[in-house]
Amino acid sequence: MEPRKKLIAGNWKMHLVPVEARALIAGLRAEIDRDAATLAKDREVMVAPPGVLIPAVAQALAGSSILLGAQNMHYEDKGAFTGEVSAPMLKSYGVTHVILGHSERRHIFHEPDELINKKVLAALRHRMVPILCVGETQDEHDSGNALAVVLRQLERGLEGIGEDQMPPVVVAYEPVWAIGTGRTATPEQVESIHGAIRGVILERYGRERASAMRIIYGGSVNAENVDSLVSKPDIDGALVGGASLKADSFARIVRARTR
Ligand code: PEP
Repeated sequence: MEPRKKLIAGNWKMHLVPVEARALIAGLRAEIDRDAATLAKDREVMVAPPGVLIPAVAQALAGSSILLGAQNMHYEDKGAFTGEVSAPMLKSYGVTHVILGHSERRHIFHEPDELINKKVLAALRHRMVPILCVGETQDEHDSGNALAVVLRQLERGLEGIGEDQMPPVVVAYEPVWAIGTGRTATPEQVESIHGAIRGVILERYGRERASAMRIIYGGSVNAENVDSLVSKPDIDGALVGGASLKADSFARIVRARTR
């Protein structure tokens, strides 16, 4: 079986205007594209700009090895859903990945598991890679409920997904207390949660699919701590917020030591 490729994904959140986005992509391409063949052996790189920047970023990425992702989408293909964007719209710009159930969507916009599940199913229907985010809050962490919360979000997020659809789903474990706070979960804490997530996938989908599925970590990943995280066997990459907004820091993260 092929070893899993690490996925290093940048989530730009609600930052940058087109001129800044183009400059960031130019900086990243200068750093990353020249090593593309070497990097591609064991990792993939993705950026997820805000929806309105996707056309500009798609253009700036033409011919690049860097993949294009979205931060969210609606589960219907079209219709009366003011303010929303659909999978066919994203795909028409070359978007291949979509972050779903990010903690900011869950906690600020109150997205429930059932809605996130519909979006995951829609992404799969359109042959996009859903990056399903799961993670416990500080209170849930402190009360010893982290694993229960993560596994509940995982099971509900994956509801109705058939065996044949299992990879390419990517799961991103992002403890809410670590996002944008400068506090990172230790590689050991992350490994233990990832092991449990893989255990659920093993039970539901079998050994082959469990060992093919990528489980990445997010929460204050930066150039200094990335090596200790992604060199662990069960941490298949990183979802990076703040540190993905500067070409030099994200390029350094992309070059992380993976073993
Ligand atoms: C994120 O946006 O998913 C994230 C992990 O942010 P940060 O790296 O800034 O903590």
